[in-house]
Amino acid sequence: MKIQLKDVTHLAEQIAGDIDHTVITAVTKDTRQEAPQSLYVPIVGERFNGHDFLLDAVKKGSVAALWKSGTKVPEGLPEGFVLLFVDDTVAALGELAKWYLKKVHPVVIGVTGSNGKTTVKDMVESVAATTFKTFKTQGNYNNHIGLPLTILTMEENTEVLILEMGMSGYGEISYLSRLAEPDVAIVTNIGESHMEQLGSREGIAKAKLEIKDGLKESGLLVIDGDEPLLQHQKGDQVLSVGFSQESSFSITNIESSVDGYRFQLEEGTTVYSIPVLGKHNVKNAAYAIAVAHYLNIEENKINEGLNRLKVTSMRLQTSAGMNGALLINDAYNASPTSMIAALHTLAGMDGYNKKIAVLGDMYELGNLEEDMHRHVARKLPENIDVVMTIGPRAAWIADELKSRVNLDADVLAFTAKEDAVSALKQMMTEHAAVLFKASRGMAFETLVREFTADE
Ligand code: ATP
Ligand code: MG
Repeated sequence: MKIQLKDVTHLAEQIAGDIDHTVITAVTKDTRQEAPQSLYVPIVGERFNGHDFLLDAVKKGSVAALWKSGTKVPEGLPEGFVLLFVDDTVAALGELAKWYLKKVHPVVIGVTGSNGKTTVKDMVESVAATTFKTFKTQGNYNNHIGLPLTILTMEENTEVLILEMGMSGYGEISYLSRLAEPDVAIVTNIGESHMEQLGSREGIAKAKLEIKDGLKESGLLVIDGDEPLLQHQKGDQVLSVGFSQESSFSITNIESSVDGYRFQLEEGTTVYSIPVLGKHNVKNAAYAIAVAHYLNIEENKINEGLNRLKVTSMRLQTSAGMNGALLINDAYNASPTSMIAALHTLAGMDGYNKKIAVLGDMYELGNLEEDMHRHVARKLPENIDVVMTIGPRAAWIADELKSRVNLDADVLAFTAKEDAVSALKQMMTEHAAVLFKASRGMAFETLVREFTADE
């Protein structure tokens, strides 16, 4: 981006500096990174106050900063440095992003949902990039700070902007949606994360549907057609995507292969293929196809985009394990929905006669945590040979499984990762497929590393 600072002074009361000559080519909130010609946005957080680091920002290349009125300005600012005084730096960052978005004016695709946001964002981008100049949320920059920073980072010739929108309570998606005003808004699914703040799955659905608050008048709402809590969303401008026949965009003829799937849509003849595991990724790809149709992208380009996909690390990522076993790393994070989805993926894998699920604690489930862990156990698909749990919460999964009389799987419960290692080592054989799934805090990738085949 490149903006003349005088263009944005309507946002802020300018008091110092040589404003007409200040050109900004980046926006930063982090003084640990080099950011030449940047506008520094100090954020007031729980532990740190960004205003304390202004001189560090200057050293890293900032030429201007937003500044909360009433906050003491440090001595020693270089001549010509511009401070823009505002009531609230985060709100001003949002305003600035809104202004820049209007100027660049790309088609905006907003993606929310309990699970699959990052995946769908990446898939939409991969498909859209075959035909348009695109930009997407980097990593997980999906909140009230990350989203405006994403907008401000896109280049001026961006044609399609894909934004991930995350939340932990009511009002947050509404804010992000009104800021970004999407042309297409996607709700990937309704899960159980953030139950603590929202009380129920109905509450979660309501919070995700806040994405409609900023949807353009002519915009398209794309929802999970398999989720009963979203079925009241109807009309010409709503597209439901799912495995169920009732969906307006329904998936059929799914065939799995060792490293992915082929499938079709009820309404067309194209056979699509994706190089990633997990049946839920078929639906995620269908969301991307829905967006592609909205953007009038040709069918062969859609497949080209889908085939270029790279799975972001730690999401059902397969790799070679010791003694020829297959490791499936899904250790990025876990919720009941995504854990059940991962178990189904493991169960559905052909060619492995020992399917082992290594499951760890799921965090942030509030007072429903015991129920939710037991729920996963009750949903355990057939064809899983061993379930190994690690951690005090995951132990509820083992406990629930052990209470089942006709269970075929072996169940083992461990308190810590180290204790599980030797048991697991013995199970690593040529025909074993081993899934690793737990909340981020469990850092299961260390386990995966332990069992990785030597180069
Ligand atoms: P976060 O809230 O952490 O940003 P996210 O919504 O971006 O998560 P992803 O990172 O794309 O989600 O995927 C996380 C996990 O959710 C995946 O590993 C997978 O197990 C599961 N998942 C992905 N897509 C779906 C879906 N459509 N339905 C259910 N589960 C899914
Ligand atoms: Mg994400």
